[in-house]
Amino acid sequence: MTQPLFLVDPTAARFELTDLAAAQLPVTDLSAHRGDGIFETVLVSMGEDGAVVVNRERHFTRFRGSASALELPEPDQELWDRVIDRLIAEVAADDPGIVEFGIRYAMSRGEQDEDGRFRPRGWAFPVPVDDHIRSARVHGVTAVSLDRGFDAYIGSKAPWLLIGAKTLSYAVNQAAGRYAAAHKADEALFVSHDGIVLEGPTANLIIRRGDRLLTPDPEAGLLSGTTQQLIFDHAQELGLTADYADLRLDDVKTADGAWFVSSMRTAVALSELDGNAIAVDEELTAKFQSIVRAG
Ligand code: PLP
Repeated sequence: MTQPLFLVDPTAARFELTDLAAAQLPVTDLSAHRGDGIFETVLVSMGEDGAVVVNRERHFTRFRGSASALELPEPDQELWDRVIDRLIAEVAADDPGIVEFGIRYAMSRGEQDEDGRFRPRGWAFPVPVDDHIRSARVHGVTAVSLDRGFDAYIGSKAPWLLIGAKTLSYAVNQAAGRYAAAHKADEALFVSHDGIVLEGPTANLIIRRGDRLLTPDPEAGLLSGTTQQLIFDHAQELGLTADYADLRLDDVKTADGAWFVSSMRTAVALSELDGNAIAVDEELTAKFQSIVRAG
């Protein structure tokens, strides 16, 4: 089975289908050796009425915001919508029974031409919902807290840190995941240097306190999550309020429920932090998961 890959030329508003296994990115592309680019990962949920691209608009809005933060050309929504729709059609044709999968789409600064101009390059390909994700949805995850190395709310004073942009520079996030694994935890939970809880390397955190859902304020120094926002949209129908708040590790450890939420995992219960058990709310976990899958 070949896997589709769409190579996108954002400058010419063109894209072409190729084989994911065969495709190669020139090493001179600035994404390859500088991580200079942006990306999104969306969940596609296949239902009887067709495919739902969960939070499609929110993802694109963030993609546009990331492009702006990195001073990349503004992405053309119509072009990227066509790419996503074609990719869904390719995946569904190859596997008509598929229930869900992800799509990762990206735009790099590309390469410099003789005149010193950069020609951005884009691509999009499917990513599977694998056993690791499925297991986390059912069993939840454990985490260790890690110092993110900056104080909360530094972003406005230090825009070059690109806080809030979803860039291709994920080496730190990957390293945090390895550190967590080496310390027998499934996940890392970043905390600002001054003790404010931020996010996981690839997920946001939501906690429940009584009938309140709370999540760290994106302004504190984290990526504003599409999944967290979708869950907050539905809080009222769950009989809950939803607010941004500065949380400390003790707030998470003593919560009535805590979740890592992200596009591919939907919502997974955080059952243990730094060796402390956290209450698991299975009913609400299931509700969060179905809210996200429904888009
Ligand atoms: N925070 C970081 C650093 C992420 O990389 C991600 C997603 O990959 C998230 C949060 C969750 O964002 P979303 O719910 O939009 O997938």
